[in-house]
Amino acid sequence: MITLETRIEDVPKINKRIVPALKRLGIRTIRDLLFHFPARYDNFSNVKPISDVVAGETVTVEGVIKKISTGRTAHKRMALTEAIIEDETGRIKALWFNQPFLERNLKPDTAVRLSGKASLGTSGLFLSGPAHERIGVGNGIHTGGLVPVYPETAGISSRWLRFLVSSFLPLAAKLSDPLPQDMRKNHKLPELHKALRDIHFPDTREETTAARKRFMFEELLLVQLHALKERSRLKQHSAPEIRTHIEAMKGFVGSLPFALTDAQRKAIWEILTDIAKPNPMNRLLEGDVGSGKTVVAAAAAYMTSLAGYQTAVMAPTEILARQHFETFQKVLNAFNLSIGLLTSSEKHASSRPFDIVIGTHALIQKNVLFPKLALIVVDEQHRFGVEQRAALTAKHTVHNKEPAGNKNSKSMIPHFLSMTATPIPRTLALTIYGDLDLSLLDEMPKSRKKIITQIVKPGDRHEAYAFMKKQITAGGQAFVVCPKIDQDANQPQSRIGQQQLIQQEVKAVTQEYEKLSREIFPDLRIAMLHGKLKPKEKKEIMERFQNQELDILVSTSVIEVGVDVPNANIMVIEGAERFGLAQLHQFRGRVGRGELQSYCILFPTQDGMVTRRLRAMARAKNGFELAEYDLQIRGPGSMFGTAQWGISEISAEALRDVKFIQTVRNEAIALAKQDPTLAQHQPLRARLEHLETAAHLE
Ligand code: ADP
Ligand code: MG
Repeated sequence: MITLETRIEDVPKINKRIVPALKRLGIRTIRDLLFHFPARYDNFSNVKPISDVVAGETVTVEGVIKKISTGRTAHKRMALTEAIIEDETGRIKALWFNQPFLERNLKPDTAVRLSGKASLGTSGLFLSGPAHERIGVGNGIHTGGLVPVYPETAGISSRWLRFLVSSFLPLAAKLSDPLPQDMRKNHKLPELHKALRDIHFPDTREETTAARKRFMFEELLLVQLHALKERSRLKQHSAPEIRTHIEAMKGFVGSLPFALTDAQRKAIWEILTDIAKPNPMNRLLEGDVGSGKTVVAAAAAYMTSLAGYQTAVMAPTEILARQHFETFQKVLNAFNLSIGLLTSSEKHASSRPFDIVIGTHALIQKNVLFPKLALIVVDEQHRFGVEQRAALTAKHTVHNKEPAGNKNSKSMIPHFLSMTATPIPRTLALTIYGDLDLSLLDEMPKSRKKIITQIVKPGDRHEAYAFMKKQITAGGQAFVVCPKIDQDANQPQSRIGQQQLIQQEVKAVTQEYEKLSREIFPDLRIAMLHGKLKPKEKKEIMERFQNQELDILVSTSVIEVGVDVPNANIMVIEGAERFGLAQLHQFRGRVGRGELQSYCILFPTQDGMVTRRLRAMARAKNGFELAEYDLQIRGPGSMFGTAQWGISEISAEALRDVKFIQTVRNEAIALAKQDPTLAQHQPLRARLEHLETAAHLE
């Protein structure tokens, strides 16, 4: 018997050949199939007698096949199938390219319905490549009315998906609805099985809209319930209380070579207030590139060390770990703290435990003892679960004040501060980071100048090079980022795929390096940075660049996150149209940090490739403006990687709607209060657990 949980390869109706294509769409079971939603609908509701059809309209006609035959087109030698359809009022021709099998399905005298666009040819009106369906066979899912069109994927057509979905849709009646009935009533949301029917095969636009709203509501509700659950789980733990030492704090602020921005002051105050409490902090520090997040973290680390505890700082790459290390040393220089750097290439030994240890994620997790860890700072990694925090401390922490053996004592875990430069709009932050409190650095240091961004077409390349030469001669430095190499779609993430990718990147960087150093700028000092270099080599090159012993650094996207070279004032991005807005923005953030006026030069590969994205880059001043453009251009999914938080494209749409998110959020809060374990809402609880395990397995 076929159920919702039956795997697609075990369903006789599903042709084995399309199984891989379905899997590429993430469809593994019949349930997945029903929850694979159309991207749009063809409107074929304009049904007309043949004699009334006019050129240019999209129309549906019903009639009988009088004649059908397949020939070949004159120049491209494609199969061209021609049919004549007749009703009581007249005849019309239909043409299809490359579908010779239609002759078998649509034999003369078959009653058919065709939907498509009518055009005027030399011998009268014809329908070009219309959707077709035999009347009385199947249930009228391909023609007439609103016909679902699914997101494209090679190897499986919307026609196949319509057929499969309509075959198994009756099973949806067995699904229990996770949304409580009163909630559905209050917000006018259709029941699950009706919503499923309406999203695939609607009778009206209103039905699809209501169905979509229902699915968004459900999904956002689940995401927020999950966040609330995490929040309350965290409350089960206690954390070391880090008192704020006001005088010391004043000393720290006074020792900095610059004045803190108001946003930085506020963020520091929010963090210090949090870590003074006996419960673990869970906070996201969000600030555009260059907004000065590191010094905020350093302030918290300083207070932590004064209280006799340790701080661990995790960076995504070795270069960044080293940079954080240097910044921490610089700003905390006067306070006699021991600061350690731990990467695979170096280990600073010390006779006493470090106050602050900086390193990459993996190393800190594996090798280091933290007898008194109280604060974890994570740069650009976003998430860090309660388990991971507990794992870091459980084995080593000895500062639990509760008497030993008391099973009810709350276990101690460190405070947590996550830092990100991704400009996440508040609505989105509330949703996907609902378990985190938010501190926003929405203000740049006063000294920072606006970066001038220019799109340079291939024909004007030489002028751009002349400009670079002038800037560098005047004391500036430039980054050159090579085009992104797209991963082979057939072997995503596989080790071989990764290796090949690195090979290709190295090749691209080497070519660019040779071009620049031999032909364009033979008298400038140029080096390259790529994934094949050893950490030590990378470090040396970065240091030479930082010390202004190099003029130009050619690299892959490894410089993407965080490197601080104040004297660099030109960012050149080759093949700029290949990068997403978020990445372009990160690149641009590498310059504009020092005294010099900075420039960002975007080279599209070809003339025609000046995309809306590139124009948005040239116009937007900061990440938040860019995030707005991004929402307009590509829909919300693109910049913020909503997919990784389990938010589908359809719900990502809802993230533009603050009110809607607030509504769902209020419902989630009310529900979590009234029934914290969801014991009285079993279907909802089951959905939540399902999503949590699915997310966990990824
Ligand atoms: P990000 O937020 O991108 O991580 P950083 O913390 O690396 O930014 O800071 C970028 C640079 O700006 C550093 O050199 C830092 O010392 C400097 N900086 C931080 N805060 C200020 C400020 N208020 N005024 C001037 N410069 C600052
Ligand atoms: Mg940073």
